[in-house]
Amino acid sequence: MTTEIYLDANATSPVLPAAAAAAMAAMQDCFGNPSSSHASGLRARALREGVRACARRVLGAPAGRLMFNSGATEGIQTAVLSALCAVRERRARGEACGDVALVGATEHKAVSESLAHWNRLLGLGLELRVLPVDRDGRHRLEVLGALAPRLAFVATMAANNETGVVSDLEGIAAVLAQTASPALWMVDCVQALGKLPLALGASRIDYAPFSGHKLHAPKGIGMLYVRAGAPFTPLMCGGGQEDGQRSGTENMAGIAALGAVLAALERGDTFLGTDALHACRARLVDALSRAFPGIVFNAPLAHTLPTTLNFAVPEVSSAELLDLFDAAGMRVSAGSACAASRAAPSYVLDAMGVPAWQSASAVRLSIGPLLDDAALDLAYERIARCGAALALPASPGATGSAPGDAAHNADLELDAASARGWLAAHPDAIVVDVRDAREHSVAGRVEVHGRAALNVPLARVAEHAAAWLGADARPLLFVCRSGARSARAALALRALGHPRACSLAGGFALA
Ligand code: PLP
Repeated sequence: MTTEIYLDANATSPVLPAAAAAAMAAMQDCFGNPSSSHASGLRARALREGVRACARRVLGAPAGRLMFNSGATEGIQTAVLSALCAVRERRARGEACGDVALVGATEHKAVSESLAHWNRLLGLGLELRVLPVDRDGRHRLEVLGALAPRLAFVATMAANNETGVVSDLEGIAAVLAQTASPALWMVDCVQALGKLPLALGASRIDYAPFSGHKLHAPKGIGMLYVRAGAPFTPLMCGGGQEDGQRSGTENMAGIAALGAVLAALERGDTFLGTDALHACRARLVDALSRAFPGIVFNAPLAHTLPTTLNFAVPEVSSAELLDLFDAAGMRVSAGSACAASRAAPSYVLDAMGVPAWQSASAVRLSIGPLLDDAALDLAYERIARCGAALALPASPGATGSAPGDAAHNADLELDAASARGWLAAHPDAIVVDVRDAREHSVAGRVEVHGRAALNVPLARVAEHAAAWLGADARPLLFVCRSGARSARAALALRALGHPRACSLAGGFALA
């Protein structure tokens, strides 16, 4: 049960081996500064320009600006700043430029937050409006049409990170054209790269940010496309790198790695194509539907990326299902990774008018185009196990596993290294796995540093406490998924007078 199956590709993705090798070569062999005029610099520059040329072919963007940056949040920031500076200049010249900035209701928070930020900082006073989506998660084009003549800026992502809903970009372009809208148009293409055909140069799109880590390149590298003739203001000034569009010495390791991913996309020999991804998703849908009768998909499959499934199981909360999947070695999430530490319901599902229970039970499963048959087979089998586990009664208080619930106490919570030493020093210690019965059933019997754990769900710790206390009380090490439930168990035993009850900080995730 230990092989990890990573099904959270919309949050981030493992680096493609060829990309890691390219990054290493850029750091060790071709390590020059592309701004230097000597041979080392020229080689680095050639590497950078080769990647840019490949990116232009993959994105269908032979003209316009295409700059490397740190990722999509920076690209979004630059696009918003550029558009808003243009509004200021147009206003100063007395030209019509619109007084409304419109953001799709399901857009990544980087969009609405940076728009509010720059609108405030530049003192523009644009009216910030939200473009509603329908029950399928698609933009309400009639609302766009009504506002279009007043629009200074509009942002409509290509595909949503939580639901995978693909926007009707052609429909949006048609509305903007029919209404002769002055809007500068940004399309966040983060989730589209490698999954949807892109022909940016042939579109009306003014700005398109990309992020490397969503498609097997490392974190900290991204790109921004700006249509030829669209207004542009640099976000970063300094040494004038990237033709003055984005100062700061280039992240050459990231650029090289992104180049390897783009080259693989162009060759078409590394990643699964659309049909294969649809086949993978169909298998996952089948596994989920068999395992969880009554399952509801929160967005229509016909309108979503073949890599994303957002679903809810009646009467099972997101947290319960996430813990169960995690125990089974499958990494999924409840929504966007940025919101994972906040327990707030999904604004994306709320905007779609998804019933409250579906939002509270939402789970996102997202695959990447590197998924292989072996991982898919394992996922199929483990999803079935999770379904069977749900037939077991839930323990009260089984979840709530956010780390940090218990007060931090150095001798109460041991990190993985200390736990190893502590177990060696206490050969008579009992290791107690306090995870829920359902999680035990999918995880099977676990070991911590070679010591088999006793399965006692947190809710049943009290029943065992008397046996663990007394004059000859054996040391206790409580363990769980994230370290929260085990910390509660250790605290409870200490409160009852046990002198050596401890917990494994960070849980199995860090062991
Ligand atoms: N836009 C979308 C749709 C995303 O999914 C993300 C990442 O979660 C971002 C923007 C931000 O990307 P980055 O992590 O590169 O800043």
